[in-house]
Amino acid sequence: MTDLSTVKRGAALLNDPELNKGTAFTEAERTALGLRGLLPPRVMTQEEQLERILPGVRSRPTPIDQYAYLVGLHDRNVTLFYRLVMDHLEEMMPILYTPTVGQACQEFGRIFRRSRGLYVTSDDRGRVREVLANWPHDDVRMIVVTDGERILGLGDLGANGMGIPIGKLTLYTACAGLHPMQCLPITIDVGTDNTHLRESPAYMGLRQPRLRGAAYDALLDEFVEAVQERFPHVCLQFEDFGNHNAFTLLEKWRNRISTFNDDIQGTASVTLAGLYSASRISGTAFKDMRLLFLGAGEAGIGIGDLVVSAMVEEGVSLDEARQRCWFVDSKGLVVKTRTDLASHKKPYAHDYPATESLLEAVEALKPHAIIGVSGMPGTFTAPVLAAMARQHARPIVMALSNPTSKAECTAREAYASTDGRAIFASGSPFAPVTHKGRTHVPGQGNNAYIFPGVGLGVIVADASRVTDEMFAAAARTLANMVSEDDLAMGRIFPSLSRIRDVSKAIATEVAEIAYRRGLARAPRPGNLEAAVAAAMYQPEYPTFVN
Ligand code: NAD
Repeated sequence: MTDLSTVKRGAALLNDPELNKGTAFTEAERTALGLRGLLPPRVMTQEEQLERILPGVRSRPTPIDQYAYLVGLHDRNVTLFYRLVMDHLEEMMPILYTPTVGQACQEFGRIFRRSRGLYVTSDDRGRVREVLANWPHDDVRMIVVTDGERILGLGDLGANGMGIPIGKLTLYTACAGLHPMQCLPITIDVGTDNTHLRESPAYMGLRQPRLRGAAYDALLDEFVEAVQERFPHVCLQFEDFGNHNAFTLLEKWRNRISTFNDDIQGTASVTLAGLYSASRISGTAFKDMRLLFLGAGEAGIGIGDLVVSAMVEEGVSLDEARQRCWFVDSKGLVVKTRTDLASHKKPYAHDYPATESLLEAVEALKPHAIIGVSGMPGTFTAPVLAAMARQHARPIVMALSNPTSKAECTAREAYASTDGRAIFASGSPFAPVTHKGRTHVPGQGNNAYIFPGVGLGVIVADASRVTDEMFAAAARTLANMVSEDDLAMGRIFPSLSRIRDVSKAIATEVAEIAYRRGLARAPRPGNLEAAVAAAMYQPEYPTFVN
């Protein structure tokens, strides 16, 4: 029961998506809260509301229409939105996140109805604190922030990138139960170098080239400092920044505040989990694997670094572990003789002849796994896949680039060119494939297995830092939840239907590490697992009047 003198009434209550129950307001509530006549007469349960709404979503002709419909539902009734998403997560996730969210960002101006989240722009230099002060909720615990420069594999989408923090935070709530009011999506609009977008009449961001250099750095410093002041218990997740800024920001802040970069660290964790599972199928111990990456950016180097630390943990020397990770970037194999290498690639520049093509590299290095994080579709060609199949009974093929249109190969191509022997995973979902009478279920190396649980654990412990040890533990926890039945179908991740259990288990491990390492600011609960479970949001309506 709520103190009614503090509650909005009538139309104002119906127009508040966080409090609105729509037709689920009871007779007593309708009377007490001035709602009589403002709603259709029949009082419905939440289940009945869902029965009414779900066919509405499904009947929209395309995923982007379904996305727009769901955004509309969120704008009206946050609780019902999360009930629907949580009850039908596998169906809703590709609509609310990759691949549809990519299209939503590209068409942001067209589908925009009502603003959500905060925009900080380069014009706000010197007054970022004022902007943050305008956010109506004080107890924000998770911020996802982008500057829109590298949206999925789609490039610079400027202020349209807002779809990504919104989508990610939806997954934090749906997959791990972060409270929606504690989540804040932020876009830092410093302009865009996408001239086509900038000139489009529907574009709603600043129509200027990207701010770069010292002025950009100063804005970001001001932003991070203002966030710490306004929301002292927040975890700040950087998302879809351009390669250079992503590495720089992570290095600058990771040892000072509670922050991480999901493109680098979350991707690394989910991929490491996939490799652990794949090793159970292929029989090659993880520490003995040789990996070849296509793409040496945030995702590739992030994965490499976590793989190396996991191999070191298993007794491999640092040099040897690095020697197991090979990278091909847009200029060819990353080797010592190259003079054009960014600092994050240098630890992986091996003493080896320059090699231009991926096929040549596969034939020479005989990797157990090829991992595509290049954003370049079609690069895992039939000859590349066939070469993998010649070298290994169960070659591991991870085509992680998003959205689907950017995947290095499709699931069907991977199975067809390896005579059905590939252990395949992708970034965006692919449907099961039947090859020569056998059905294979592609794994989805979706970061959503990892970041929601990590975020929940960080919040429960109020951790002051987010460490690589936490991401390594998350990978082990995820891999341990892959069953023999999953592996028999070729699936190296658990079913998405188990994601809340996965998140709970990861959160417990992450919080445990925070307590063990002295990083927790919240008092330790008697039963950590129970405390994690209790912290998870449930989309249940408040009772205003009994
Ligand atoms: P990035 O811009 O930091 O790196 C891209 C890398 O690809 C660079 O090293 C670049 O040199 C290389 N590259 C470009 N063209 C190439 C070519 N023709 N051949 C070989 N290499 C080439 O981007 P990122 O953050 O690393 O993301 C890359 C891709 O990975 C994106 O499509 C993204 O959606 C995807 N990704 C997937 C997941 C996931 O599935 N869980 C997570 C993160 C990123």
